[in-house]
Order: sequence, then C-alpha cells, then structure tokens
Amino acid sequence: MSTKKLTHRARKRFSQNFLTDFSILEKIAKAIAPDSIDKIIEIGPGKGALTELILNSDVELHAIEIDRDLSAYLREHFASQDNFHLHEDDVLKVDFNALLSATQPARIVGNLPYNISTPLIFHLLNYLPGIKDMLFMLQLEVVERMAAKPGSKSYGRLSVMVQYHCKVEKLFNVPPSAFSPAPKVESAIVKLTPLKRDPDSLVSSEELTNLLRQAFAQRRKTLRNNLRNIISAEELESISINPGLRPENLSLDDYVRICKHLHPLH
Ligand code: SAM
Repeated sequence: MSTKKLTHRARKRFSQNFLTDFSILEKIAKAIAPDSIDKIIEIGPGKGALTELILNSDVELHAIEIDRDLSAYLREHFASQDNFHLHEDDVLKVDFNALLSATQPARIVGNLPYNISTPLIFHLLNYLPGIKDMLFMLQLEVVERMAAKPGSKSYGRLSVMVQYHCKVEKLFNVPPSAFSPAPKVESAIVKLTPLKRDPDSLVSSEELTNLLRQAFAQRRKTLRNNLRNIISAEELESISINPGLRPENLSLDDYVRICKHLHPLH
C-alpha cells in the first residue's frame, strides 16, 4: 500500500465529510464484520479510511467514487491490493446489474453522500435480489424516517418503501465531531436486510411507489382526498380502511392491501 500523503479540500457539491474518528471507523468495520467470501461494494470511499479496514479482511471490494482526484489517490494508494476494484463514476448512474448477481449477493456499505441519500436508497431498492445486506451512514433524520412507525411525524413514503423491502435496524448514532469537516447534522448507522416476502403479499414496487406518492401528496389531507382519483371512499371501506384517516395513520399492510385491491392480478 502506498504511503503518499493526500492533500484534498473537501468538496461541498459531493457532500464530502470525511470520517476521522478512528474508534467510530472501527465500530463500523465491526458492524460490517467482513468475511473473506464477501463481495462488498463501497459507495463514496473518499480518502479510503473505511476501505482500508474492509480490505484487511481479504474480501472482493468494489468502490464507487465520483471525485476524480480522490479516485486517482485511491487507485495509487491501493495499487498493490488485487482485491480492490475502483469504479470512478456517479453511483446514481452505475449499472448495478453488471456488479450484482443473485447467485452471490453482494453487501453494500458506505458513509453516503448526504445530498443524494434518499434518491440513492430508492435506486438501490430496484436491485435487491443481488443484495445480501446494506450498512450505511446517513443523516439521523433519514434513518429515523426509514425506521418510523405509523402515526409518527417521520413516517412517510421512505418508511413504507424501505420497510416493505427490508428489515431496518438503526445501529448507533455518530456525532458531527467524528468528521472533518463536521456536518451540520447528527448521523447514524443503519443496516438494511432485504426481506424474503411471502408470494401472497407481493405487490409491484412501481405500483406501491405510485400509490404512496398520491397518498402522501398532502400529509394534512385525508386519504379520501389524496386518493380520490384512484380509489373511492366506499372501496376503501370495503377493504376495512377508514377514508377519513390521514396517510401517516396507515400501516404497511394497509398500503399493500390497497395496492392489491387496485391491481388484483398480482
Ligand atoms: N467514506 C469516506 C469517509 O467516510 O471518510 C467519505 C464519505 S463522504 C460523506 C461521501 C463520499 O461520496 C465522498 O468521497 C464523495 O466524493 C463521494 N460521492 C459524492 N457523490 C457521489 C456520487 N454521486 N457517486 C459516487 N460517489 C459520490
């Protein structure tokens, strides 16, 4: 491994907040617990702090980094490691089908760029058959939305979509002081494990997404109002859903029931 020093000014447009607290890095590596048979994809390796700890365990590691200067540094720094593969690219444009296979599901990890965290999570939900699990650092507020239960302020489209597809575990919080430069918000580590759903409870992800977009279009309005273009109040009552409720009061199962009612062939 090269020991050449890196001088790099953090770029705001790429949400660059580098983890510098070694005890937190070790805690994350321990939570990932890489095994030599794992194929790991790291999103946004930055200066390679977490990358280095993961590579210690001989895994096959694919790192996706958009920043040209950091990519050049990483390529040189890990040049002697055959198990390190760098993809200099925008993660939102990467063809994950080329990286993932259902026969050897990969693990996806990273201290994510916070400016694209929500679209990135929605993007990754399209590739779950090739994913074993995901362990991410995100803004605490986003982790809370992912794990939120019905009735809470954080509960919304992200909560229902992520919980439909994955088991969500918030592992621990990370304070701004663990990074350089320090972000303005608290962060947290979350683990997402794709669920194997009973075929009877399957709905199309696209149809569920469309339903949620309409249901949560205006949080303060009732379902009767938000869903009036796709389902009547009487139909909602016929599947035991009170049309006078607000979107945040429905459980995941309620949304799946509406989706199945609207698209009975699934
Ligand atoms: N993993 C490093 C650490 O913990 O110190 C850096 C984390 S920093 C929060 C986010 C990283 O993601 C940066 O290295 C940034 O350049 C990279 N990044 C930002 N947007 C990206 C994108 N669209 N695709 C790939 N990498 C991106």
